[in-house]
Amino acid sequence: MDQVFSNFLNWTREHEWGYPEQFNKTLDNGTRLTVWDSGVLVVEPEQPGDKDIIISCAVHGNETAPIEICSDIIQDIISGEQTVAHRVLFLIANPASINIEQRFVEENMNRLFSGAHSQGDKQNKERERAKEIEGYCERFYESAPKGERRRYHYDLHTAIRDSQREKFAVHPFTDGKPYHREQLQFLLACGVDTILLNQQSTTTFSYFSYNTFGAQAFTVELGKVKKFGENNRADFQAAEDTLRRLVGESELSFPPFDPEQHFMFAEAQTINRQHEDFELNFADDVANFTAFDKGDLLAIDGGEHRYAQHDGEHIIFPNAQVALGQRALLTVIRVPTNSLDLV
Ligand SMILES: [Zn+2]
Repeated sequence: MDQVFSNFLNWTREHEWGYPEQFNKTLDNGTRLTVWDSGVLVVEPEQPGDKDIIISCAVHGNETAPIEICSDIIQDIISGEQTVAHRVLFLIANPASINIEQRFVEENMNRLFSGAHSQGDKQNKERERAKEIEGYCERFYESAPKGERRRYHYDLHTAIRDSQREKFAVHPFTDGKPYHREQLQFLLACGVDTILLNQQSTTTFSYFSYNTFGAQAFTVELGKVKKFGENNRADFQAAEDTLRRLVGESELSFPPFDPEQHFMFAEAQTINRQHEDFELNFADDVANFTAFDKGDLLAIDGGEHRYAQHDGEHIIFPNAQVALGQRALLTVIRVPTNSLDLV
């Protein structure tokens, strides 16, 4: 058991696709640690506050900065250096893809939630793991103490390409529910001033926890993909410090809300790859959030031309190599923060 807690990330990587036994440990400060599976750690203080927090990383295994951050916070909890005020579920989502230093082994895990893991005939470990992770999230939220609870989930990523707006978060489709000022303030404290508002349901991990459990949930892009040890952790310091405060403090305080400090973008177009013969009409190294003008050619999909529909249409997540039917490009346009339904 000591091996499990001496370096939780290393133990997780040694048992990459799951471990059938559960491990428990209670720290001197009364905090209880429970390992449900490889990469699945529940942390509960003796007197938990009213927040149930999920912090996940390695949904994409080559996105190492979030893995380093989670691993360090976990080790500081185990050593007693990091205080814990609330229940926290840490998830290292895809250890096998960490081990091969790839985004995924067989299939992009961030397209496999909300039951997508069981659609169609395909079977693979990532589908099994996504299904298990859904179960762990449910078990975590459902096993909370009785009473009014606040649920959160931050799914941490780094992006493949450069971005003109380096740190940004994706807000799941709300289906008419309001946005929360406090969440914008939390993300700003993490160094994330840019929020992309999804306009339709998706099969991402953060949409799953938002839609299924009513958690305030985000996919958070913290910077650029690098190998272990090559990340400049100073670039991630604000995010790490704020996550540590979230875990360790019963209530967070922020500077007053200022709508001008938040840059909100709404989806304009989703361009799915429909043909084998698909190309993007810009260079591979064009940064996320690069703006195009109305009428600019963005992509050619089997002879069909796809154009920008607005001036100031920014591109995000371009990837011409996606599987047929999947998103090859997203475009977004700026919307005033004050035009949103904010509570
Ligand atoms: Zn990612």
